[in-house]
Amino acid sequence: SEAYGQTLAGASKSLADMDEPADLRTMVDNLSVATKRVQRENKSLEQRLSESTSEVAKLREHLEQVRRDATTDGLTNLANRKAFDEELARACADAEADGLSLTLAVIDIDHFKNFNDTWGHQTGDQVIRYVASVIGRVGAPPRFAARYGGEEFALIFPRESAEIAAVVLEEIREEVSSRMLKRRSTNDDLGAITVSAGLAEMRRGESAHSLMERSDSALYVSKRSGRNRVTSAETVQTAA
Ligand code: GH3
Ligand code: MG
Ligand code: MG
Repeated sequence: SEAYGQTLAGASKSLADMDEPADLRTMVDNLSVATKRVQRENKSLEQRLSESTSEVAKLREHLEQVRRDATTDGLTNLANRKAFDEELARACADAEADGLSLTLAVIDIDHFKNFNDTWGHQTGDQVIRYVASVIGRVGAPPRFAARYGGEEFALIFPRESAEIAAVVLEEIREEVSSRMLKRRSTNDDLGAITVSAGLAEMRRGESAHSLMERSDSALYVSKRSGRNRVTSAETVQTAA
């Protein structure tokens, strides 16, 4: 475009001191060649722009996929630990800002090492997926369900009290323990498994770390007092 501008400027200058018609013809021919070149270059630029645009769209889609993969647990499709940590920090900040309740629960499969030792790791994986599906269903948004670690899950209950969360966790516990599991490949009866849970409601100004610690302590109480049960940090404290 700059070269074309210079060509036009040169033509206009030579037009000023031109007296032969043949010169005029040469000049118009030259301009015509220059115009065609600019048209060709514009077309090629247009083509490259359109290629870049679709390349950007592809990259954007890929980036979104990578972002999803980075925050999702591959076995269960629940949020992973990283996504959970971020979400808990966000939920705590929101609860602090709006003054509403926030409850956190941790859920752990009971005696899972025994189960793996008896039935094998692959069947164990199926059981983790099953428990995740129950937790994921109950933990649909605005709640937030995650696989926290191996056979351990976490559930965030934004704007819900410990009392309400305890009822929900009791439902999860009941549903898991009442289901007779079967190994898909061989149809073997695996019996039932159980889960233990602990939950805590955020206190004013409490950090995510401390909330997690109190939920974990409540889970530990569930484990210590026989497993297959739900313990609220709030009731533990009242009793103490
Ligand atoms: P508790 O009731 O005290 O929780 O006992 P537990 O046996 O469940 O707890 P422990 O922490 O001793 O063992 C957890 C087991 O979970 C050990 C490990 O083999 C199993 N595990 C962790 N992640 C996975 C996984 O991704 N797949 C399978 N199949 N097993 C896993
Ligand atoms: Mg366990
Ligand atoms: Mg565990």
